Amino acid sequence: MHSARASVARFRLSLRPITSKSLTRSRLPVLPSRTLATSASTTPSRSSSSQLIYGGIIGGLTAGALSYLVGQYNQTTNSTVPSYASPQELKQAIAELQDAFGGDKNAVSTDPNLVKTHGSSENSYHPASPHSVVVRPKSTEDVVKVVNIARKYKVPLVPYSGATSLEGHFSGVASGSICVDMSSMDRIISINEADSDLDKGIPLFFPLDPGPGATIGGMIGTGCSGTNAVRYGTARAEWFLNITAVLPNGEVIKTRSRARKSAAGFDLTKLFIGAEGTLGIVTEVTLRLAPVLPTKVAMAQFPSVEHAVSAVQEILRTAHGSNIQCIELLDDHMMQAINNAGLIDHPYPVKDTLFFKIQGDPAAIEATAEVVKSIVKQHSSSRFEFARTDQEAEDLWQNRKYALVSSIASLPGSKCWTTDVCVPVSKLPQLVYETKKDLSEAGVHSTIVGHVGDGNFHALLLFRDDHELELVNQAVHRLVHRALDLEGTCTGEHGVGLGKKEYLTRELGESTVELMKTIKKAVDPLNIMNPGKLYPGLGHDSSHPKHDHS
Ligand SMILES: Cc1cc2nc3c(=O)[nH]c(=O)nc-3n(C[C@H](O)[C@H](O)[C@H](O)COP(=O)(O)OP(=O)(O)OC[C@H]3O[C@@H](n4cnc5c(N)ncnc54)[C@H](O)[C@@H]3O)c2cc1C
Repeated sequence: MHSARASVARFRLSLRPITSKSLTRSRLPVLPSRTLATSASTTPSRSSSSQLIYGGIIGGLTAGALSYLVGQYNQTTNSTVPSYASPQELKQAIAELQDAFGGDKNAVSTDPNLVKTHGSSENSYHPASPHSVVVRPKSTEDVVKVVNIARKYKVPLVPYSGATSLEGHFSGVASGSICVDMSSMDRIISINEADSDLDKGIPLFFPLDPGPGATIGGMIGTGCSGTNAVRYGTARAEWFLNITAVLPNGEVIKTRSRARKSAAGFDLTKLFIGAEGTLGIVTEVTLRLAPVLPTKVAMAQFPSVEHAVSAVQEILRTAHGSNIQCIELLDDHMMQAINNAGLIDHPYPVKDTLFFKIQGDPAAIEATAEVVKSIVKQHSSSRFEFARTDQEAEDLWQNRKYALVSSIASLPGSKCWTTDVCVPVSKLPQLVYETKKDLSEAGVHSTIVGHVGDGNFHALLLFRDDHELELVNQAVHRLVHRALDLEGTCTGEHGVGLGKKEYLTRELGESTVELMKTIKKAVDPLNIMNPGKLYPGLGHDSSHPKHDHS
């Protein structure tokens, strides 16, 4: 994804409240300039958006062989759904946890309010159960202790970081679960100055920027991305050089060294990215960072979302496309919501809008801006302008990040179900057009935002009662199938959790899903790591009640 020379300083840190915000805004830029070495011209390159579909006999044979082997595996293993701790055993496990943490009530808590709030999310309407206990480890050794007690008594473990995930990822398990709250693991362990290769004084940042409050452990868990993905890729690019994880059997593994690249076997770091806490608990990670380059923010407005999205496709195909750091779409409803939320001094015209972040040296920014301006005009843009000040640019980006709050405020008394899908960029205009039409016909109040440079599209669907919740539920279902019909995915970045499990087999095929389950069963034969999430049909699905609107 990135040129080998694009790498910057590497950090090894334990996980949590280093939020995406604090990483980008405070911790990394304040690194003393002497910690940075040189290589000014090396910036990560954008991946090519073109694809080659390559198949034939080899593909056919592989799929055939795979389903045969998986079929055999199923015969021997699928029949046994592991059983979990009885109420008595659960009590013993909690007592043992309290002992292991020296009776520290903050480290091991059964406070009814805490176990409830840690087991549910106000951003998710998927099934939720309180945990039995919340444990706050401070080190990898602490996590090992927790895992060993959990496996001794067969109590499910649910890792928990920033709690911003949207698909019921950290819901408790009805029969009892230990929530492993990683908030105390927030140390930067080392900064490897000698391996940096940037000009002195250039600040660094970590390009993944999911929801406000998200932290490193959860970003790995969900395989997140965000506004910068069009330029820097997602969590699946090589921003995580290695991971230290505690496996469900209590063993600690480190996935690879911190060398900038390695061909030593297949990539176990990636195994944990998007695993949603189902394969182990990540306790340390070495990050790659990128230089902060000068940017300018621009805005263009269009008569329709389709016009806006078509302009994006054309811009990204030009030679200047690689200077685009972000392209965010906000539909007219979203612009209205931002105006109404009172977060800005001057209201925007209520139209479908693209926000651009253009990066590079002043000449590159100017040349790119000219190209963008000319292309948006050809696509009927009525307005193209730069943010006048850095503060305005900053505010503009913040408004995008607070789309959720603004949307909820736009319909008094409402709650919001946020969902995301992603399609090949060329299919995005069709997806957006059909979805807006569908939502309007179904009478669902909605706003739309999207990382449109990646074909990633978010619908924020509002509801006030159970009837409207059901309309939203059905609209999400239709949206996902529409995206799958267009060769897309049920989730571009939010992950599967409970909410998208049912679509996995249609999207990936039975053999691929079976391979995922085979890996899960091999790593976690007791199915204690975040059970019920991610894998369709892998035990304990029924332990969760249906959608929870309370
Ligand atoms: C307003 C808003 C905007 C958002 N925008 C974006 C966006 O632009 N892009 C995007 O990708 N997402 C977005 N999200 C979703 C969310 O921010 C991401 O999914 C984020 O990566 C979750 O991180 P977290 O720290 O909150 O993780 P959590 O919600 O705490 O956990 C997420 C998952 O990771 C697992 N996990 C947590 N810690 C660990 C660990 N140490 N080891 C193993 N597993 C672990 C959990 O069990 C869970 O399955 C948004 C959310 C909100 C509310």
